[in-house]
Amino acid sequence: MTGRGGVSHCLPPVLRAFWSNRRMDMEKVPSIIYIKSIFAPLFDFLFPSRCPVCSAYVKNRGDWCAACLAAALRVRRLPLDAGHRRVFSEAWSFGAYHGALRDLLLPLKFRSRRDGLPALRSFLAAVGERLPRADWMPGVAVPVPLFAEKEKERGGNQTELIFREWLESQGWEWRRAIVRTRATAPQFGLDREQRAENVKNAFALSDEMDKNELAGKNILLVDDIFTTGATLAECAKSLKKAGVNDITVWTLASDRQ
Ligand SMILES: [Zn+2]
Repeated sequence: MTGRGGVSHCLPPVLRAFWSNRRMDMEKVPSIIYIKSIFAPLFDFLFPSRCPVCSAYVKNRGDWCAACLAAALRVRRLPLDAGHRRVFSEAWSFGAYHGALRDLLLPLKFRSRRDGLPALRSFLAAVGERLPRADWMPGVAVPVPLFAEKEKERGGNQTELIFREWLESQGWEWRRAIVRTRATAPQFGLDREQRAENVKNAFALSDEMDKNELAGKNILLVDDIFTTGATLAECAKSLKKAGVNDITVWTLASDRQ
């Protein structure tokens, strides 16, 4: 853990380039955080926070202006087909998968660029204010996993980077309960049947989980995008095999209505 991503995303581009070329070790991290805390007001003055969509001035880094946030937010329950209903009871998505959200998510997902993370996390905080909270007592949240090699290559699982901090702050227990047992081709560009075939039996309970640990529990399954739901359905099947009682799905964005 070098802490590089966590520090550098707060910096303007010129300083970020300098920063990312520095070798950082754990002994240096506290002093860097201290220095940053001293200079933060100066940075804020020189580089004020702007909306990630229209560049209007906003109060905090990562904040959206009210108009762009309202345009991107679409907190809704997605319609499920019979195949989905066999494995999860509800699937929710929080935004439309085009425009601002897509532009923020794609660089994180495919180019390991974390610049958009503060805006995505800020988006989720706004979602939290719109969810009917009484329906969801915090429990166990499980992310859709990447194949281990791919996660290493990307420097993290984008779903974890987006959701974990927010869910844990709301009292959820974040568990990497399932693993992807083989490399799968990207779902992008595949039709519905090909997507289902591509991820079939590609998930299993993690070796690090006690076999009966999830038995009888209600689980929140989390992913970045809901397209056909093929990946989520396969993940849900592996959770059901572990005896999970009920599965609700939350996704950041979807192109479904
Ligand atoms: Zn805006």
